[in-house]
Amino acid sequence: MQGTPKGLRWHIGFFGRRNVGKSALLNALVRQEVSIVSPEAGTTTDPVEKAMELRPLGPVLFVDTAGVDDVGALGALRVQKTMTVVARTDLCVLVTDGWQEYEQRLAELFESRGVPVVVAVSKCDVGHPQEAEEAARAPGRQVVRTSAVTGEGLDALRQALIEAAPEERRRDPGLVGDLISPGDLVMLVVPIDLEAPKGRLIVPQVQTLRDILDHDAYAMVVKERELADALARLRKPPSLVVTDSQEFLKVAADTPLSVRLTSFSILFARAKGDLAELARGAAALDNLRPGDRVLLAEACTHHPSGEDIGRVKLPRWMQQHVGGALQIDVCSGRDFPETLSGYRLIVHCGACMWNRREMLSRIDAARAAGVPITNYGLAIAASLGILDRALSPFPGAWEAYRQAKEAGQRTR
Ligand code: SF4
Repeated sequence: MQGTPKGLRWHIGFFGRRNVGKSALLNALVRQEVSIVSPEAGTTTDPVEKAMELRPLGPVLFVDTAGVDDVGALGALRVQKTMTVVARTDLCVLVTDGWQEYEQRLAELFESRGVPVVVAVSKCDVGHPQEAEEAARAPGRQVVRTSAVTGEGLDALRQALIEAAPEERRRDPGLVGDLISPGDLVMLVVPIDLEAPKGRLIVPQVQTLRDILDHDAYAMVVKERELADALARLRKPPSLVVTDSQEFLKVAADTPLSVRLTSFSILFARAKGDLAELARGAAALDNLRPGDRVLLAEACTHHPSGEDIGRVKLPRWMQQHVGGALQIDVCSGRDFPETLSGYRLIVHCGACMWNRREMLSRIDAARAAGVPITNYGLAIAASLGILDRALSPFPGAWEAYRQAKEAGQRTR
């Protein structure tokens, strides 16, 4: 279970002021020395992560953070790092030994984002937590009295985390499970070109393959050149074809119209984000004009190779679609611009390495700035004029795209 990628883990962040006992509580909860504990304020500097299994939730990632009340130039940087964890936190454990303005603001911040908050009143072996407990109480918020020294409240805290998990966590939408039935055949089209890593498949391909097997279906993996031959050999067509978005045109040409077709990137747009919102964003491509600013965002930093998707192919297809040069900025990792208002469109990668919450935070940021956001696979399919096929397995998202496109035509 330790090998489950971070992006599939539920992220539980420990937040609070310095020296309230966040690290000691996390260590006691996981029964390991994950974070360094000392009486000195500000011992935790960078976020510290611990991956583990929390039954019945499954794989989780605990993240210990630096105090939100840190001071000085270095302290401000630590607080900044702590705040980057907010975007990917699925559940906040707010540790407090006395409810203050800091705690109130943090609780409100998470709750305004729909993130459940469990308040752990700490150090109850030495203090009188009654006041903090009462001040922390609010509708929908669980408050647990804990001590990392005596172990009091740790089981209650574990139980509170499980109960606070939203229903969607227990249902786990997966990638293709709801699109296929047991015994179906899914054809995966995987180009092995210069950009493909040596000796392995990439995360979206591996996770899709695993999801097909989890749902008792069959998978056939081919390169784009062999697709037509592979399809011709089958007695019955596959129920779904999933391709690398870069091969959309060839794969759409070789796949019978009666077979549903999509891409790995679009599967991840749904699993990690909000497919309808990202499909609506794809309609904005038709309203772009030469010279418009577009942001391409990738969740990982990697060394761009010759025909890099984000830096070469996607800009080329989008500019062909628009009929002129766009001003394209590329950002990667967690370097997402704070000000988005100058952009006419944001195009995001599939975020396969991230948890869903972090991608949803980006979608929220785009929405708040009034900038449409879409995803690589959707933008490629829209630029190439085959988005109707690429969204064929997702009628709701197709309808969202169609409506946004019509609205865009009316305002042009
Ligand atoms: S850049 Fe995005 S799509 Fe590519 S591997 Fe990283 S998270 Fe996945």
